[in-house]
Amino acid sequence: MAAIVDSQAIRKSEARPTPAASVPLPLDDFRPESMLHVPATQVARAKFPVIDVHTHLSFSVVNRNGVSMGEKMTCPMPPDQVLAVMDRKNLRCMVDLTGGRGQGVVEMVNQWQKAHPGRFLVFTEPWYERANQPGYAKFQADQIEQAHHAGARGLKVVKTLGLYLRENITEGKLLKVDDPRFDPMWEACGALKMPVAIHISDPDAFFRPTDRFNERFEELNHHPDWSFHGKDFPAKMDLLEARNRVFARHPKTQFIALHVGNRGEDLGYVTACLDRLPNMHVEIGARLNELGRQPRQARKFFDKYQDRIMFGTDAVPHGTDTPQQVFGEPLYEIYFRFLETEDEYFDYAPAPVPPQGRWRISGLGLPDQILRKVYYENAARLLNLAA
Ligand SMILES: [Zn+2]
Repeated sequence: MAAIVDSQAIRKSEARPTPAASVPLPLDDFRPESMLHVPATQVARAKFPVIDVHTHLSFSVVNRNGVSMGEKMTCPMPPDQVLAVMDRKNLRCMVDLTGGRGQGVVEMVNQWQKAHPGRFLVFTEPWYERANQPGYAKFQADQIEQAHHAGARGLKVVKTLGLYLRENITEGKLLKVDDPRFDPMWEACGALKMPVAIHISDPDAFFRPTDRFNERFEELNHHPDWSFHGKDFPAKMDLLEARNRVFARHPKTQFIALHVGNRGEDLGYVTACLDRLPNMHVEIGARLNELGRQPRQARKFFDKYQDRIMFGTDAVPHGTDTPQQVFGEPLYEIYFRFLETEDEYFDYAPAPVPPQGRWRISGLGLPDQILRKVYYENAARLLNLAA
């Protein structure tokens, strides 16, 4: 009842005319400084060694309408610079998900994984540019095998599938996430024990109009191309349910549903998915904004699924478009603080304005037993790493 009374009070105050003395303030200029006095813990190093299962140390050079193409790769930061940060933060290993395909993934495996054993693992990616060619299903499965032979440890599927990839690659109808042409690819990953890190859809707010009721208004207003509202985009739930059908259809393949299964806003839904789909796992990359604004629900979620949640950040070296993902010491300190402490009301990203919604987060204060699982044990098991 209290909630109803509150919203009525807000409507009434909105209707009141603005007093002459008040000054309009552009939302971009609003930088409120918190007057709250609460403990602030700096966690300079993770309490236990960490495997970051969600990073982007390399990218395809060519990307057309959201579809990465070709075999040419680029790396925004050299391995020695990345390793220096890792050593200071107690990061044992980073998984470079966007390792590319063909000759590209061979080069990334050599440059990162083979040159620095135990410190980096590289995943491969699908050849979407050939998805409309005859024989693609078999070709793609064979490519997984070749990438595995070259050393790739898993497959990454970005949100291209479901939101960008079309019948004629960049034109025509959007392909369905559970399109049967990909079935041999999912099966090959299962047979080769390569986990699939999969990002389907995006935050709930990105599927709603970019208006004053949207909790991610500033972000969508600055990046209109991040909105999947309208046009021919499927509803978010249709995308997630198609993803779940893929999980159910390939029970021997292990899937890491990135970004808290891309539904950190609704842990009840993620819970239902995890209960129904034993081959589904999650990681927490770029979703501290969601988990940390519901710390009690999140804590229960970590208790219940402590064997299926992994540490991930979605870190991108020099990724200035997304401050919540910029690889570096400040980013990791926020993740460690969120997981290890009970600090309250702190920033979830190293940025002057909270980039994924204007709110702050509270820590979970996980016990050591769960911390070890989330920091490295669950990932080590899934990635077949020696303890
Ligand atoms: Zn990512």
